[in-house]
Amino acid sequence: LEKENEKVRVRTGNQAMVREVNRALILDLLRRNDVISRVQIAKTLRLSKFTVSAIVNELIEQEFVIESGKGDAPKKGGPKPILLSLNTSGAFVVGVDIEIKHTIVAIGNLKGELLLKTCIPTVREYSVENVVEQVSSLIDKSIQQAGIARDSILGLGVSIGGLIDKTTGIIAFSPNFHWENVHFAEILENSTGLQTVIDHSTRVMALGEQWYGCAKHVKNMFYINMGYGIGSTIVVDGRISPNHCEFGHTFVTKKDVHCTCGKTGCLEAVASIRAIEEIANEQLHDSGEDRLTAKMVADLANQGDAAAKNIVMEAGRYLGRSISIVANLLNPDKIVIGGEIAFAEHLLLVSILTEYEKNTLDLIKKHATVEISSLGMDSGVFGAVALSLDKFVFKQAMINPA
Ligand SMILES: [Zn+2]
Repeated sequence: LEKENEKVRVRTGNQAMVREVNRALILDLLRRNDVISRVQIAKTLRLSKFTVSAIVNELIEQEFVIESGKGDAPKKGGPKPILLSLNTSGAFVVGVDIEIKHTIVAIGNLKGELLLKTCIPTVREYSVENVVEQVSSLIDKSIQQAGIARDSILGLGVSIGGLIDKTTGIIAFSPNFHWENVHFAEILENSTGLQTVIDHSTRVMALGEQWYGCAKHVKNMFYINMGYGIGSTIVVDGRISPNHCEFGHTFVTKKDVHCTCGKTGCLEAVASIRAIEEIANEQLHDSGEDRLTAKMVADLANQGDAAAKNIVMEAGRYLGRSISIVANLLNPDKIVIGGEIAFAEHLLLVSILTEYEKNTLDLIKKHATVEISSLGMDSGVFGAVALSLDKFVFKQAMINPA
C-alpha cells in the first residue's frame, strides 16, 4: 500500500509541476504583452484552450490578472476575444537595497511599476539586529503609506553587498557590515513575515538593468558596479551568472598601491571611488579642511582644476584598459557601467572610452557598446523589486532553468 501511495504522490507531483510551469509561462507572456487573449496564449504556448482557461481563471481569482476590454473580432468571424492583462492593483512585491550609507525601500506592482520609493540613511551601528529592525520598520511604513493590504505583498527581494548565496539566503561574508555566516533571508522573513530572496548587489543591479534599464533584450553583457569597491557580473544568453567575479582585483599597475584585498596594483586600488578619494586627499587636500569626496573631486575637475582632472582621468584610463581586456575576452553586446559613477560621468567616460577605443579589436568594437547605466543609483532598488517578482511571481527559474 505504501508503494502504491508513493506512485500516486509522484504522479500528482508531476501534474502539479506541469501546471506550475504552465502558470509561470502564462504569467511570463502576460508580462511581455500589455494585453493578450486566451486564444493567443493557447496558440503561443501550444497549450489547450481548456488548460489556459483553467489557469487564467485561477489567476483572475487570485487577483493576478484582470479582463481588460475586447480585442478585434477574428477574420473568419465569431465573437471579439476578451483581452487579459496583469492586475496592477491586486498584488505587490517589496524591494530593498541596503548600502553602507543608505537604505532604499520600494513597492512594485506586478508590472514592475513602483508605487513608492523611500531612501533613508542606514543605521550607524551595523549589527544584524539593527539593520533588520530598520528595514522591517521601513517596510511597515511603506506598506502603510502605499495604502495596500499587507497580505497583498507576495515577497521581498533584497540587494546587499558581500559573499552571498542566493539559494540558501546566507551572507557568508559582508565586508561593508563585517558580518560572517548570517542567515539573512531567514532572519528578514521572521521579522517581516514576507518570503524573502537576497542576492549580491552587483547581480541585483544587473537584473535591474535587464528589467528597467539599458540591458533590456541584451543577451550578453558585462556589468560593472563602480563604487567604493568595483563589482562586476557576467550575463550570458540573458542569464546572470551566479558566480562571483573579481574584475576589481585584476592587476593593472606596477605602482606600489595597496588594495583592500591585500595585494598591490589592483584596478580597485587606482580607479574606485575609494581610490579617487584617497589619491585626492593625499595630493590636493589642505590640512584643516574636511576630507574631499569623489563628488568634490569631480566638481573641481569640471571647474578646470588640473590636478583634480588628472586624478579622474587617470582612473578612467585604468578602467578603459581593463574594460578592453574584458571586451576582447568575452565579446559582449554591451558593457554597462553603473553604481556611483554618475558623480563624474562625462570626464570619466571620455577617458574610459578613449582608452577602450585604443585597446579593443575593431571586430569587437563593432558590436560591443560601452554605456553608463540609465538607472544610476536606483538600479539596486529596481533590481530588488525585479528579484522579488522573478522569484515569487514569474518563477523564471521554472521556465528558464540554468
Ligand atoms: Zn585587490
